[in-house]
Amino acid sequence: MQQWNSRQRQTPGTILVVGTVGFDDIETPFGSVRGVLGGSASYFAAAASLYAPVRLVAVVGSDMPSDTLDFLRERGVDLRGLQVAEGKTFRWGGRYGYDLNSRDTLFTELGVYEGFRPVTHPEYAESEFVFLANIHPALQQEVLGQVRRPRLTMMDSMNLWIETARDALTDTMRRVDMVCLNDSEAREFAGTSSLLTAARRILALGPKVVLIKKGECGAVMVTDDEYFVAPAYPLEEARDPTGAGDSFAGGFLGYLAQHDGDITPDVLKRAVIHGSAVASFTVEEFSLDRLRRLTRAEVERRYWEFTRLTYFDDVVRD
Ligand code: AMP
Repeated sequence: MQQWNSRQRQTPGTILVVGTVGFDDIETPFGSVRGVLGGSASYFAAAASLYAPVRLVAVVGSDMPSDTLDFLRERGVDLRGLQVAEGKTFRWGGRYGYDLNSRDTLFTELGVYEGFRPVTHPEYAESEFVFLANIHPALQQEVLGQVRRPRLTMMDSMNLWIETARDALTDTMRRVDMVCLNDSEAREFAGTSSLLTAARRILALGPKVVLIKKGECGAVMVTDDEYFVAPAYPLEEARDPTGAGDSFAGGFLGYLAQHDGDITPDVLKRAVIHGSAVASFTVEEFSLDRLRRLTRAEVERRYWEFTRLTYFDDVVRD
């Protein structure tokens, strides 16, 4: 890892993301959709591109209509790293109850991800920021090895890899600057019920920052010196939490890429609030429907509403 605040620059750093692009079937008590756009890289790219240039590495099958990702192209996302392979696009199905914090995976069909070798475009080797979205940890490491001198690297994962590829996952954690997990994954990985202990065990592997997402309870950021808590935005109607974690990561890393050259502890905290703000929009509608129309101005307004959620003054006592 390089010194984050070692150089001043005005233009945002470029973010490379590797993850899934696929079709989701989603059931919640508020509706269900089938075959809609999903995937960890799709959500991340849609969110992060509000802040900084994004390069996407993923694979889709020949069954994906060629205009599906046009909205990402229109936002300037570089899709030269998107492979189109003969076969079926990744598909995932999930079901949520009234508690949108937990879900059951109904099926995962890897399709063209079976045998996927991420080969990034030669220009991508110079990317400054790297997000290893949820994908097999061995593939995450392959991509990491193809970026020459990243200034900041971050990873996400899920219980599937904790249970089936723990060693590879631990290796990826040792190689990145930041780890982002949800609360149940952090507890499961670290074998503890305490989120603070879980974060400290992950920090001991090498990362400098651990982000733990807690659904409608917000998120925490833990470093060696800080424990920062962000609330979730109180929504009257949350319809579909799919992709909230990836959108959180996109808002967070996008904000950091925009402040490339000046990543201080305060900038990290603001980035957590940006991540929470973007994620709160994602859950308002199914799939990427809300993210597609989301503007940076809307995120800024919500960011300021967050400051009111947590501001309190000390009481003067006599
Ligand atoms: P999130 O809700 O942030 O965990 O992200 C949900 C997205 O992750 C969905 O759109 C799925 O298509 C995708 N997904 C589900 N399972 C996997 C998996 N095993 N590997 C990679 N992506 C997945």
